[in-house]
Amino acid sequence: MKTDVILIGAGVMSATLGSLLKELVPEWEIKVFEKLAKAGEESSNEWNNAGTGHSALCELNYTSEKPDGSVDISKAIQINEQFQLSRQFWSYLVNSKLIRNPQDFIMPIPHMSMVQGQENVTFLKKRFEAMSNNPLFQGMEFSDDPEKLKEWIPLIMEGRTSSEPIAATKIDSGTDVNFGALTRMLFDYLQTQNVEMHYKHSVDNIKRAADGSWELKVRNLDNGSVERHTAKFVFIGGGGGSLHLLQKSGIPEGKHIGGFPVSGLFMVCNNPEVIEQHHAKVYGKAKVGAPPMSVPHLDTRYIDNKKSLLFGPFAGFSPKFLKTGSMFDLITSVKPDNVLTMLAAGVKEMALTKYLIQQVLLSNEKRVEELREFIPNAKGEDWDIVVAGQRVQVIKDTEAGGKGTLQFGTEVITAADGSIAALLGASPGASTAVHVMLEILARCFPQHIKEWEPKIKEMIPSYGVSLLNNPELFQEILTSTAQTLGLVEKELAYN
Ligand SMILES: Cc1cc2nc3c(=O)[nH]c(=O)nc-3n(C[C@H](O)[C@H](O)[C@H](O)COP(=O)(O)OP(=O)(O)OC[C@H]3O[C@@H](n4cnc5c(N)ncnc54)[C@H](O)[C@@H]3O)c2cc1C
Repeated sequence: MKTDVILIGAGVMSATLGSLLKELVPEWEIKVFEKLAKAGEESSNEWNNAGTGHSALCELNYTSEKPDGSVDISKAIQINEQFQLSRQFWSYLVNSKLIRNPQDFIMPIPHMSMVQGQENVTFLKKRFEAMSNNPLFQGMEFSDDPEKLKEWIPLIMEGRTSSEPIAATKIDSGTDVNFGALTRMLFDYLQTQNVEMHYKHSVDNIKRAADGSWELKVRNLDNGSVERHTAKFVFIGGGGGSLHLLQKSGIPEGKHIGGFPVSGLFMVCNNPEVIEQHHAKVYGKAKVGAPPMSVPHLDTRYIDNKKSLLFGPFAGFSPKFLKTGSMFDLITSVKPDNVLTMLAAGVKEMALTKYLIQQVLLSNEKRVEELREFIPNAKGEDWDIVVAGQRVQVIKDTEAGGKGTLQFGTEVITAADGSIAALLGASPGASTAVHVMLEILARCFPQHIKEWEPKIKEMIPSYGVSLLNNPELFQEILTSTAQTLGLVEKELAYN
């Protein structure tokens, strides 16, 4: 039962790490344990996330106004560069014929930001000026002309009676990514490379063995039998389930960390005529007091090769850490080492708690009212509700925020000796899986990373290079990945 690598969880993160490792060290043995019956069924599933290829082309929460009135786009640059790593790795896999039919997981779709009210319009214009001069965001357009906006977003402009100023930016190089399909494709490929997939196997405990490797207690959910598996390296890719597993490992790096679950709902359009009238991902501005991940957006999506239209997410509260988790997840994550951190966060985040309670209590009529801020003529009967995935936000003590600070990004936790790594948090999430997994490789395998570098650069030419400072390389990568992933033809075909 000994192996080189164990990946816990069959989501997009484990799939990405497994695929990178199989290219770098094909001889290493890898086992995957997933408690559900299939891969990509939790947050990575296409119905559980928004499928935005986050490259900061439309998400207003990645840019902020500085005290001097200028717009800080440094986070947007970082996220854009990280998404380019994912595009390059996916293109490498397609070019090498390790995965096929990229249209089954990635489609081009314009990314837009839309705001109302003079103050917001002024901000959007300033943001556009800061971004459109930057090579990474070339091609971004701005308009506050209702006629132009009618061309871009007819469904959103139709029936709009308010005299409030409205403006939008649009960039055509955005993408919709079906992370569920991608996850399944990657695991199908890994299985052909002798990666052992163990579905319906729950990892119940992790402990250090005498020789420094990790021993996992794994329960076969079909027959209840318990197996022991050991590995030199373990990746805890359990999504919302990762915090409990990290705590069980007992590593000091996992102490004083808590998790706060935020659930979500999307509205999905069931009227093909309405779906046909929209062709973009349109991100709005978060409401006052709302956490950044609940920014409302109206998205064209491609799911099962069919065009769909989704609106949301509406945030909510459930104590579960996974959609298929337990009502005791939150309470059992409170340990002596993190109780003060959790209590401090509870006191600090009263506004968030209040917001979430309000969201939970929203009636369907109220949700339709929020939808009408995007589609003034929306009819309630054209929309159904789907329950999205759970996001477990990390709570930790930070220098800047003090005790119990809620984090909205992803956090990589690794043991000092690099033998175990866990991924916590949800945003920007799946889009940056390749960047995050490369970080894990660098932190956990410092003894190998130099020798792996040439292969990593073959797969991901911009690895270790700033695209911002190399605009020609950026253009080259953008064009070649668009070709390989079939984004160009699809764009042309659609227009
Ligand atoms: C509402 C919502 C919207 C989002 N929108 C976007 C978006 O637009 N773009 C984007 O890039 N990202 C988005 N994300 C984030 C993205 O979905 C996640 O970052 C990503 O899917 C996480 O992948 P993962 O592999 O870590 O986790 P998951 O996909 O959740 O997989 C974890 C797996 O581990 C398994 N597991 C857990 N515990 C155990 C155990 N003890 N034993 C065995 N198996 C276990 C689970 O069953 C699950 O299959 C969104 C997330 C949500 C919830």
